[in-house]
Amino acid sequence: MSDCLFCKIASGEIPSSKVYEDDLVYAFLDIDPQAPTHFLVIPKAHIGSCGEITPENSAVVAHAFEIISQVTRQMGITDFRVVSNCGPQAGQSVPHLHFHVLAGRDMTWPPG
Ligand code: 5GP
Ligand code: ZN
Repeated sequence: MSDCLFCKIASGEIPSSKVYEDDLVYAFLDIDPQAPTHFLVIPKAHIGSCGEITPENSAVVAHAFEIISQVTRQMGITDFRVVSNCGPQAGQSVPHLHFHVLAGRDMTWPPG
């Protein structure tokens, strides 16, 4: 999508601090970290949010979670939270599907 911030980050048009990359997904540090470790995992192909996951595009979601497991393991992180905000009321500010991975501090429940 031409006017999407995370499409531009995935393509390298906008710089970011890369954590992991392959043909399907890109992971990078959040610019405004909410925990000592806070990175985002996004599909390279544009999907607006969790509300746009379909049988045709859902394989990348499974892959993203494999990568979350792999990257956290490589970082030595065992306890972490994965969050995806879907829609403005839920706190989504960038309309390109992304999974927040947060770790390194105690987490509260329920989330705010
Ligand atoms: P959301 O609010 O949609 O759930 O999450 C969007 C996240 O993207 C936020 O945590 C925000 O800090 C992060 N973010 C927004 N713009 C940029 C950017 O230009 N670079 C990086 N690395 N993160 C960004
Ligand atoms: Zn996009």
